[in-house]
Amino acid sequence: MGDNVERPSFRRLPSVERLLQRLEAAGALGHHPRRLVVACAREAVDRARRRLVEGRGAAEEISLDALLADTEALLLERSAPSLARAINATGIVVHTNLGRAPLSEAARRAVAEAAGYAVLEIDHATGVRGSRQAHVASLLRELTGAEAAIAVNNNAAAVFLALTALARGRDVIVSRGELVEIGGSFRMPDVMAAGGCRLVEVGTTNKTYLADYEAALSPETALLVKVHRSNFSMRGFVHEVALPDLAALGRRAGVPVLYDMGSGAFVDLRTRGLPAEPTVQEAVASGVDTVTFSGDKLLGGPQAGLLVGREGAIARIRAHPLARALRIDKLDLAALEATLRTYRDPDRAWIEIPVLWMLGRSRETLEPAARDLADQLAPVLGDAAHVEVCPTISEMGGGALPGVELPSWAVAVRPAGSPVEIWDRRLRRHRPPVFARIVDDRLILDLRTVGPEDYIPLVDALAACRAAGRRGADG
Ligand SMILES: *Cc1c(COP(=O)(O)O)cnc(C)c1O
Repeated sequence: MGDNVERPSFRRLPSVERLLQRLEAAGALGHHPRRLVVACAREAVDRARRRLVEGRGAAEEISLDALLADTEALLLERSAPSLARAINATGIVVHTNLGRAPLSEAARRAVAEAAGYAVLEIDHATGVRGSRQAHVASLLRELTGAEAAIAVNNNAAAVFLALTALARGRDVIVSRGELVEIGGSFRMPDVMAAGGCRLVEVGTTNKTYLADYEAALSPETALLVKVHRSNFSMRGFVHEVALPDLAALGRRAGVPVLYDMGSGAFVDLRTRGLPAEPTVQEAVASGVDTVTFSGDKLLGGPQAGLLVGREGAIARIRAHPLARALRIDKLDLAALEATLRTYRDPDRAWIEIPVLWMLGRSRETLEPAARDLADQLAPVLGDAAHVEVCPTISEMGGGALPGVELPSWAVAVRPAGSPVEIWDRRLRRHRPPVFARIVDDRLILDLRTVGPEDYIPLVDALAACRAAGRRGADG
């Protein structure tokens, strides 16, 4: 390394100062903060130096113009918004890393409306201070049949808040088959511990009976908890207690019952030929005291945690000091209200709520869509890639319908000159970035999660892949 740095060719690298002078002359400092321009110029020179150290290229090839272009590219990258729109061609409908549920048009309009001053916690008729919960509580009651409802930041918050408010310092009974982990750091036993509850495990991994819960009841029992296995499935020699039976036990014993259903659907998926997923209405009708679920999974709304159930339990939850710390913000609340309103007409919900619309698309409707996109892509890619349509399988994602295969159609792109991974990376670096799957050296663009509004940017992104290949630009 020391020897390399002494190589005379380095002296021929343009200095950061000269680069800055040129940038100044080109007017690049005009609209960018100087500090940022300096950082980008320094990085462009550093990268060039690193290329030399690693023996990739000669100093003669690194012109001032090339460094200027690199600096400007870095500036563009650094000043663009980081949380940018993306195109999801993975076919995974609720893709947590791509923002889970895309919002409906109505929800997007509601967010824009609420972004300024809004009647968040005030009754505009009387001028009296109100509760932000009023915007969704009655809708949630109406749609689910529950006596009471409250919305918080997300479902993890909903579960944590319910455990803390209903069972802090006391016993909580859960089946060993339901001590689940849901993405990242949400593990049921840890959440219980954080909520100050004593976890009482009953049953076994594969089988838990009502008698197991009954035997564990004691004067210290504050809560019976049931957790929906939303992100995995168990088959074979298994048994779990049905929700109505657990609710009945809770009533007999005078102990409230909490059901964390995770995804929480408002519509029966079977009506569209999809596998059954428990609905919130069924859960409420089973008589449990509190049901918790996410706003941005099957519901297809914004990030939120919804708690619905009996007035007694919800009132204790609402009154707990943590409810303030975990409260929902006004933009999510606006999107949630608009999403819930759409569910008043379930047929409209299947069309207007993107998650439901995407789930409801059949292989028969996806095939012509795939052909349409392929027809647009083929002339643009020419001999740079082979384009064809093929059947594929998409999945729900986001902790719902685990293991369920949704038959779909895709456009498969096989680059001719370069490895498919290079194209995949170019697509991710494009604006808007495109996320696809790689299968057998082909990019699979699954039409389930690609709408007609995505075609033009998608075709642009692939055209840019081809152009980058011609330039040999793969930084
Ligand atoms: C997804 C999920 C959660 C966490 O919900 P978030 O809205 O992501 O916080 C909790 N419990 C179950 C069963 C889940 O599926």
